Amino acid sequence: MKLNLNIQPLNSWLKITSEPLLIAGPCSAETEEQLIATAHLLAKTGKVSVLRAGIWKPRTRPGEFEGIGSIGLQWLKLAKEETGLPTAVEVATAKHVEEALKAGVDILWVGARSTVNPFTVQEIADALKGVDIPVMVKNPVNPDLSLWCGALERINNAGITKLAAIHRGFSSYEKTAFRNEPMWELAIQLKTLAPELPIINDPSHICGNRELIQYVAQKALDLDMQGLMIESHLDPSIAWTDAKQQLTPVALSELMDLLTLRKPESRDKEFADKLAQLRKNIDKIDDQIIQKMAERMQIVQKIGEYKRDNGVTILQVNRWDEIMNKRGAFASALKLDLNFTGKLLELIHSESIRKQTEIMNAKPLVEEK
Ligand code: PEP
Ligand code: MN
Repeated sequence: MKLNLNIQPLNSWLKITSEPLLIAGPCSAETEEQLIATAHLLAKTGKVSVLRAGIWKPRTRPGEFEGIGSIGLQWLKLAKEETGLPTAVEVATAKHVEEALKAGVDILWVGARSTVNPFTVQEIADALKGVDIPVMVKNPVNPDLSLWCGALERINNAGITKLAAIHRGFSSYEKTAFRNEPMWELAIQLKTLAPELPIINDPSHICGNRELIQYVAQKALDLDMQGLMIESHLDPSIAWTDAKQQLTPVALSELMDLLTLRKPESRDKEFADKLAQLRKNIDKIDDQIIQKMAERMQIVQKIGEYKRDNGVTILQVNRWDEIMNKRGAFASALKLDLNFTGKLLELIHSESIRKQTEIMNAKPLVEEK
């Protein structure tokens, strides 16, 4: 898959007042007082570069608070006038785009429930044609990298070059510690496909609770993401939406102080030399692993032919259990993570089974008399 985006660097269109970039604000604009007071408290921290607030809220069930609507845009305008913070809102229809632009919103974002739907994204993209405004695209609800890329492409094709992605995690059927599984590998894959595209992490919607936010935010920074979007409400206990995951501006400021900013690279010569040496060692080991894997698969090939020629099934459960137990114990003794070793062995095993299935279905090498 390819992703060719024509984009401008983040720092050319966004004034980052404090590192790391922090976009903060309530999940929803509720009242003028709530939004303005929250905005002032956030501005006072000196750590916030953009004020966010949901005006139109995509809710799972009808009858819940669906956002304050257009009036909230005027509150955002006022918040910007009073604090100087640029503003960001979620748009999900052409009408939202029009209204947000008219009200002078600085940044638009496409929500996770919109990114899943190419019709919706195209409608938003069409409404953005000829407009020069930054747009951030959240990942789709489901773990589908193509949908995320497709939405970025549609917005970019409409002429939006001030573009960023927001990683807000993915819905999963199983209950886990996260409201939305981070599935970091998908954000990393996006970064690999489009290294110039800034990715902002949204720990609030990944975690769904306050307790895990620091951990996720730190991990995002360690993965070299370009910023954070964190929900903040002046009194989360009475928030109309996402009450469990919002932080007070003071708590948010304290959390930011606890994060460690590391640089993606170092110019230090000694560091560079040492890193290059360590990477050389890794490259050598990777080559050995691949070579050993090829050797293993050659033996699998022989076993497959042998089983086929003797009319024996591919899978012997006892043998597999024995492998898992023995290798698991060995791996533990070597201080390897059991979960990692288990997954690795399962992957190797399933490839062995696939190979043997191929052999079973192929003609025997030696014709039976
Ligand atoms: C939000 O940012 O408030 C929101 C609705 O997020 P998401 O689209 O990630 O669910
Ligand atoms: Mn929210």
